[in-house]
This record gives sequence, C-alpha cells and structure tokens, in this order.
Amino acid sequence: MLELTSTDTDGRRPLEPVGGRVGVYVCGVTPYDTTHVGHLFTFASFDVLIRYLRYRGHAVTYVQNVTDVDDDMMRKAKELGTTWTALADDQVGQLVRDLQALNIALPDHFPKASEQIEGIQTMVEALVRQGRAYAANGNVYYDVRADTTFGPPSDLPDYAAMLAVANERGNTPGDPNKRDPLDFVLWQQSAPGEPWWESPWGPGRPGWHIECSAMAYRYLGPTVDIHGGGSDLIFPHHACERVQSERFTGVRPFVRFWLHAGMVRLAGEKMSKSLGNLILARNLVEEYPPNAIRLALANHHYREAWDWEDADLPTMQEWDRVFAEALLTRPGGATPLAGVPAFQERILAAFDGDMNSSAAIQRLLDLARAVLAAPAGTDVGGAQRALRDLTGVLGLRYPETATASR
Ligand SMILES: [Zn+2]
Repeated sequence: MLELTSTDTDGRRPLEPVGGRVGVYVCGVTPYDTTHVGHLFTFASFDVLIRYLRYRGHAVTYVQNVTDVDDDMMRKAKELGTTWTALADDQVGQLVRDLQALNIALPDHFPKASEQIEGIQTMVEALVRQGRAYAANGNVYYDVRADTTFGPPSDLPDYAAMLAVANERGNTPGDPNKRDPLDFVLWQQSAPGEPWWESPWGPGRPGWHIECSAMAYRYLGPTVDIHGGGSDLIFPHHACERVQSERFTGVRPFVRFWLHAGMVRLAGEKMSKSLGNLILARNLVEEYPPNAIRLALANHHYREAWDWEDADLPTMQEWDRVFAEALLTRPGGATPLAGVPAFQERILAAFDGDMNSSAAIQRLLDLARAVLAAPAGTDVGGAQRALRDLTGVLGLRYPETATASR
C-alpha cells in the first residue's frame, strides 16, 4: 500500500482514500511567461503520483488552478501592452503544449481564478459573518491574531517567524487598513485598469490564497486527500488556505496529506526571475527528448531540493535507450523469463515507499537489463508488459508496436 509523508506530520502514513475517489489539488501557475523547470518538477512529480494511484486501481480527481488574477499578471500585461486575459490565454496555451510534450497529463479540472468569483465571494462573506474576517475601505482581511489555529502546515515556531517569512513573500505589513501586519487579504480594491467585480465590499478582486480555497472546495469538497505545490508555498499560501477553508466548512482536516515539491536550483541558487537564472520549460522541451527530461525529473524524490545539471542528460538518454531496447527485443521462445514477479514487487515497493521514483527507475533498469540478457528461447512478453506499464507510471512513452506481437 502507498505510504506518504505529509509536510505537517512526522513519518509515513498509508493513503487510505475515505471516499471512492482520491482528490488531488495542486497549486498551478500564474501564467505570465515564467514557467520553469521548477514548475515542471512539481507537475511531473504529481503526474507520477497520479499515474501510480491509477495504476493501483484508484479513481482520481485532479484539480490544478490557474492564478490569472494576480499582481504579476496585471504588471506583465501592461508591460507587453496587452490585456491580462490575452496574456493568460497565450501563456496557458504554452503551458499545455509543454505539459503535453512531456506527457504530463492535464488535470481533470483546470479552473481559472477569474471564473470562480462567485464561489470566492461566498467564502469571504461567510468568513466575515463568522467574525473571522473584517472589511476595511473596500478590502477584506483575515484576522490572524484572533485565530490560534493559524500556522500549519508550516512548522514556523511563532508569530515573529511567520511575519518574517510572509514579508519576504509579498506581505504588505504597512497596509494601514490592517488590524495586524500578518493579516492577509481576501478581497481587495482594484487599481485603475485592473479587472474588478462587484462585491458587498465594493468593486474589487480576490486575494490569491482564497482563490485556491474556493476552487479546492468547489471541485473536491471540504477535505482534499492530497494537496500539493512547491515547498515555497507552505507559508504563507498553504497556511492561509488551510485556516480559511477549515473555518468556512467547519471540517477538519482540510487536507489529509500535504506534499511539497523541493525547489530546483541552478548552480546552488534558487531559480528566480529576479536572478535571471530560469531554465524555462519551453526551452527545455525544445532542447531534449521528452523521456530524458522525465527521467531527469523523476530521478529526484519529490521533496528533494536539487540542482538542475545539463551534464546529467546523457545518462538519462542512455537509460531511455535501455528501456526502448528491452521493449523491442525478441529472444523468442516458450520459457518465461525467471524472477519477473520479484522484479515487479521491488519496483512497486519503491513507489509505495513515499514515491521513491529514483529507486523505481533503478529497479526498472534491473528488469530491462534482465530482459536484454535473456538467452534465446526465453519468453520475455510478461516482463515487457510489466516494463511498459511501469515506465508508463513515470510518464515515459515508447512505440506501441514494441510488445504488440505478443
Ligand atoms: Zn494555491
């Protein structure tokens, strides 16, 4: 059985879906031309997890949002002399092409925040009614000081630590409308030229955190089995999401497993737009074959922070070649290759152990090499079917003809 480690608890726990389906929510992109290898690592890691859940017979509902109402969107659209909607459409189109090129399955629901305003307003209104949030001059804020449950899934020890991290990540502590510097915005007045919607607090637009709470609730209900995103979203984004969702629904927990993908660095530094060291998704897709990119990503545990190295790619291409050859080889015969169930078991054990995809790759290579080393007169059909299915869990694609003659 699959065991996972949630960010907010120690140790692994088995994933036992409560309902008939496993609900997965992954925070998606702000579509303004910065989708980089770090995003791909997040989306590819969750793609492997979802493929594995489906391989194990689970029905999965996968939701990934598009943050199209956001400060960065407005700024970039202005710079380009275009509208934020045109920018979003263009960039989401590019993202979909990149994901498809890498065989990263698209989510079942791919909602844009701008299309979810009603659900967002319902949530904000309820939080104000409960006394959890307050309106001030056309803005609405969550009252953090009054809520002792604020903080998880982050493990930040106290208020000062939370404020320091929030300030690094876009908080506006000096906003005179706030009761407390750590209060976060649920609804805000739009600046001139920005999109706006009518609301009980005046024309405005939603804050970022409430967008994800509303979309998760709409598509997955009050409890999400697995909530993912990059590790830079743990605080404040996911702490804000969790607290407001649990207050709104009255149901705990909002999330059964928080899974956070590690940051991908370049030469030891975090990739960021400001440092100018982004490896953009579309450039990567143009440069390397998709299977090699998928192997380079899956060769790191989802929680690991790691350095992207172009120098790793030849090895990935070599592994890809081993899989392709093993799926094509035809020793021909009646004696089944020995030990296939044991190979399979070891591969599944790697996935079951908190999605250890790099170990799974090595065990898949063991199976592929055993197929290639099979003497004439061996039936490798069963081994090839296992290899095809389980390389498929990693998102690798090989021509169908390879095992079709079985
Ligand atoms: Zn989110």
